[in-house]
Amino acid sequence: MTMHRRDFLRAGSAGFALAAAGCAWMPGAAPKARVAVVGGGFGGATVAKHIRLLDSSIEVVLIEPNEAFVSCPISNMVLGGFKTMADITTSYAGLARHGVRVVRDTATAIDLEKKQVRLARGDAVAFDRVVVSPGVDFIWEQLPAMATAEAQARVLHAWKAGAQTLELRRRLEAMPEGGVYVLSVPEAPYRCPPGPYERACQVAAYFKARKPRAKVLLLDANADVTSKGPLFKKAWADHYKDIIEYRPNSKAVDVDWRNSTVKLEFADVKADVLNVLPPMKAGTIAAPYITANRRWCEVDWTTYESKAAKGVHVLGDSLQIAPAMPKSGSMANGHGRVCAAAVVALLNNEAPNPSPTLINTCYSMVSDKLAIHVASVHKYDEKDRTMKAVPGSGGVSSGASEVEGAYTMNWAANIWADALA
Ligand SMILES: Cc1cc2nc3c(=O)[nH]c(=O)nc-3n(C[C@H](O)[C@H](O)[C@H](O)COP(=O)(O)OP(=O)(O)OC[C@H]3O[C@@H](n4cnc5c(N)ncnc54)[C@H](O)[C@@H]3O)c2cc1C
Repeated sequence: MTMHRRDFLRAGSAGFALAAAGCAWMPGAAPKARVAVVGGGFGGATVAKHIRLLDSSIEVVLIEPNEAFVSCPISNMVLGGFKTMADITTSYAGLARHGVRVVRDTATAIDLEKKQVRLARGDAVAFDRVVVSPGVDFIWEQLPAMATAEAQARVLHAWKAGAQTLELRRRLEAMPEGGVYVLSVPEAPYRCPPGPYERACQVAAYFKARKPRAKVLLLDANADVTSKGPLFKKAWADHYKDIIEYRPNSKAVDVDWRNSTVKLEFADVKADVLNVLPPMKAGTIAAPYITANRRWCEVDWTTYESKAAKGVHVLGDSLQIAPAMPKSGSMANGHGRVCAAAVVALLNNEAPNPSPTLINTCYSMVSDKLAIHVASVHKYDEKDRTMKAVPGSGGVSSGASEVEGAYTMNWAANIWADALA
């Protein structure tokens, strides 16, 4: 029988990766199956590692363009000047130690007929099942003047941690004393509901220490703070009374980027440093699996298999959320664990767990040391085929505390390790 180049690559690459990783699986031994994972963030890294932990005879290839994982959680503290990029960066070496083959490339298409992920630079990656966890992309059409690369370089979002996080910090440092930092928040749902309010606190903490006459103006498209509202408002009143101004019902409709001005429905607001979070949708590579509001992907919550395509699983922020489910790293990590177990079951001709549970804890640092949290438990409802928050299972902090600040750092270290170590 002739061995196709693809099959050769499959056996060869798998044998090499696992031999390099020191695993028991012998070079050249045929893998049971191959899973391709697109995106090495919270969802993708978790599913890749946990498939290998559950069944080391399944080959896993993770496709990710970035050299290392940079965490959005804690990235607001880089803006505050309390953490560095090194503090929020983790190498992919831990995944390689589990026998995951990490391919540094961008997926350009998923060919379901050929069962291949096509890459921008390298050879296509064949798969038996594919998991897609590309996070969010932005709906620039809703801010028409922001369509060009030049505009996007001038007005930052810093909502994907990395180069923009550093550049925004640089601009805040360069902003003159007495200047105004404007943060524009889109209508929910968007990545990390409390993230913008935490960002306002972090920037305000920096101003309080270094530029006490500077202001943070929070322009929120929503009618009220979308997460931990009373706790954030108390933190603003207690610590940043003359620094943070909150304006609800202030939806951005465009940006005059040449003049650092955000255009609201009935007013224009000029900033010294302008930070606009555009409306969001599923990451572009997941576009064929978008089934809800032309923005998000629906799945079977027991397997994370797309409602639009068999054999394709979607995780993380790209999903159409179930009721009361935030778009968070905590959730994406949970999706990755449940999906890993389901994919392993399916590839072993077993039934996936019919009743998965997810737990979310979301901390927000309101200063360099003080934090608040919200937590919830979500259980699969077999009748309605969706995840539902378990009544009475969740809760919020009674107030900001240093103890919670320490928990926040523990939470981050734990989730980075669960996904990547
Ligand atoms: C400022 C901020 C603070 C936050 N704080 C918290 C917090 O405290 N707690 C919390 O739980 N969550 C927090 N979040 C939310 C959290 O970061 C996201 O919910 C989480 O990252 C979602 O995981 P994901 O796997 O869906 O996407 P990501 O983690 O963004 O991973 C997506 C990956 O896919 C890759 N990718 C995209 N397209 C392709 C392609 N075509 N080919 C290959 N790879 C591709 C990207 O490079 C990226 O690495 C915060 C977010 C922000 C912005």
